[in-house]
Amino acid sequence: VKYYLKNIEQQKELNAFLEVYQEEALQEANRIDQKLKDGTAGRLAGMVVALKDVLCHEGHELSCSSKMLKGFQSQFTAPAVQRLLAEDAIVIGRVACDEFAMGSSNENSAFGPVRNAADLNKVPGGSSGGSAVAVQADCCLLSLGSDTGGSVRQPAAFTGTIGFKPTYSRISRYGLVAYASSFDTIGIISRSIEDNALVLEIIAGYEEQDSTVSRKEVPAYSTQLSEEGRVKKIGLIRETMESEGLNEEVKAKTLEKIDALKAQGHQVETVEFSLLDYILPTYYILTTAEASSNLSRYDGVKFGYRSPNGTDLESMYKKSRSEGFGEEVKRRIMLGTFVLSASYYDAYYTKAQKVRRLVKDQVDQLLSEFDFLLMPTTPTTAFAIGEHSEDPLEMYLADIYTVLANVCGLPAISIPNGEDKDGMPIGLQIVGGAFKEADLYAFSKKLL
Ligand code: GLN
Repeated sequence: VKYYLKNIEQQKELNAFLEVYQEEALQEANRIDQKLKDGTAGRLAGMVVALKDVLCHEGHELSCSSKMLKGFQSQFTAPAVQRLLAEDAIVIGRVACDEFAMGSSNENSAFGPVRNAADLNKVPGGSSGGSAVAVQADCCLLSLGSDTGGSVRQPAAFTGTIGFKPTYSRISRYGLVAYASSFDTIGIISRSIEDNALVLEIIAGYEEQDSTVSRKEVPAYSTQLSEEGRVKKIGLIRETMESEGLNEEVKAKTLEKIDALKAQGHQVETVEFSLLDYILPTYYILTTAEASSNLSRYDGVKFGYRSPNGTDLESMYKKSRSEGFGEEVKRRIMLGTFVLSASYYDAYYTKAQKVRRLVKDQVDQLLSEFDFLLMPTTPTTAFAIGEHSEDPLEMYLADIYTVLANVCGLPAISIPNGEDKDGMPIGLQIVGGAFKEADLYAFSKKLL
């Protein structure tokens, strides 16, 4: 704990931590030291973790990096976090993100941008940018983030860390602040596959507060990492490699990895995925719709910020929301409200739901023939702070390869795959079949 506290203190310019639980973490460390002596310590004894500012942790602030919730205290602890604590992990602090997990660069935080430790002028990716940088800069061993459209994998790719998004419903979402409920998952960022797998094994599984969480038994992922796998069949999605925005160096590294896989005897085939162009629009129509509904609860009455400028109830609602939310969140609430409005519902929302089904069917078909689908995690490496902030559509393109897994509810991982000529990390993404987390971990481990 002292080691990490020192690293946090010495790298304040990264702006990853919104709060550091110095006293509490040191006390916990002492308590767990004693348990280690008594032989009663849990399986994560001493694992120092950071939590994205969208996860409930009783008695601690939870702001979603928004002015709207600044000062709000969690009333309970999310089961995922509770399970970490029960195994004696130590929470060292709360890390920044894009406001309400909406963004791809961590510039949408109400508390200033987070910086990439590989180059302070570049973004760490988002929305779990603080979670990724905390691991990248050795300020904790592992962190939890959330992944609705790539928010764990994309920042992992930009920071050279491992980012894992499990199958939708594998981990309870209770106590994870909702952005788009049919896409949201808690995700794990780490340096090693072993740590990542062990933590998933501990936090996944049934829990009664989330009606969508899976009842499927949780395998002991961490003990299945060295399984001598048979030769794998891997589908390389042609459209991802031919897409216009794909940076040459990212492409070259991906192709190098494929050659290495073939050399190891794996079968890699290029496959067609004709719906790639429809994924981002589908994702942004459905997630903004769900977000507009989920975020209607922040009305200045029940939670968080209340404008002092309201003159009656309605103006209090309006002013609280106008003043409390940042630009990107407001843009999404308006988009979502529009696509759900009576006159446009069928044209946008219903249509997007149908496309979601088509995409899922096509991907399921591919995964019935292949063990994994492979592609770069992101089309480029980390971009400069401010580079895309004027044009939201440009920013949305950073998610072009990651949203697929969320649209289909599938598990996916981003692992480091070298660096570009400026030393910025490159990520490789592997998508697996539903509930095939164990295979994904074991295969990724061999690729590192
Ligand atoms: N960048 C994507 C978005 O802004 C993904 C966000 C996320 O996964 N939370 O919606």
